[in-house]
Amino acid sequence: MHPHYPLTRLRRLRSHSHVRDFFRETRLALDDLVLPIFVEEDSDDFTPIAAMPGVRRIPERKLAFEVERLARAGIRALMTFGISHRKDAQGSDTWSCDGLVARMIRTCKDVAPHLVILSDTCFCEYTTHGHCGVLHGEHVDNDATLVNLGRQAVVAALAGADIIAPSAAMDGQVAAIRSALDENGFDATAIMSYSTKFASSLYGPFRAAAGSDLRGDRKAYQMDPMNRREAIRESLADEAEGADALLVKPAGACLDIVREIRNASALPLAAYQTSGEYAMIKFAAAAGAIDEGAVVREMLGAIKRAGADRILTYFADDIAAGRLAL
Ligand SMILES: [Zn+2]
Repeated sequence: MHPHYPLTRLRRLRSHSHVRDFFRETRLALDDLVLPIFVEEDSDDFTPIAAMPGVRRIPERKLAFEVERLARAGIRALMTFGISHRKDAQGSDTWSCDGLVARMIRTCKDVAPHLVILSDTCFCEYTTHGHCGVLHGEHVDNDATLVNLGRQAVVAALAGADIIAPSAAMDGQVAAIRSALDENGFDATAIMSYSTKFASSLYGPFRAAAGSDLRGDRKAYQMDPMNRREAIRESLADEAEGADALLVKPAGACLDIVREIRNASALPLAAYQTSGEYAMIKFAAAAGAIDEGAVVREMLGAIKRAGADRILTYFADDIAAGRLAL
């Protein structure tokens, strides 16, 4: 029994649906969401991703039509991932002015200049070994990779990216990108770093989607999911290096981390609902085990309630298209 019962009756605020709605603390809107997209060069057809029902690789040749459709549906922001067929040891296509990174961004901005374009800034989709930077033997060379991150960021900014989103999990990546951008006249281009990125087992479907040929794992640079204090240090380090916004990945398995970073920093904070989280909901719904719409609302709502201002989610397309309601 509540100590102040019957004076306090918490059920008063939920007895009727219109009153319940009136007092709802957390509200979701399409404006909160960022849709990650996969764009494949040298391809004519949309390619379904078996592990992510409803998500397709977009052929670069049809990207303009697709972006137009998404913008018309009310999508506010896109994060671009490329599926490259010009891989090399360093991922040098990413810092070519006519490479896939630059072309994707130019197409998006040509078609829908008011869409916010976040350029995922890494190398794993563009390297033959699938790691997020320059390999020396078995290890990714942190400081050599920083130079290349700066190059890629400048090319993305030149192509029109609004936000550079480094996901390589290199120490010093924000500072390196900030100085490369500023030296090249892009002091107005923002950085939203993947400031706390765990070596999560929830990224599996993404690797198939992005065509990453990873050998080994990324545990030498992405964080151990069991570490809480380190997760906060990582994000605060990026803030100190000049990040304009922070990002936690994955989202649903890290709500405690989202809340702690929210409390520790005043920067805008995003969380990335991963391909694994998406797949779990889609397959459970297809099996009739859960109500997809209700679970999506509850999971996205929990991420926002934990403190995320923005959520990267593959469900943004279903929501914008009206297949799922918020
Ligand atoms: Zn990567």
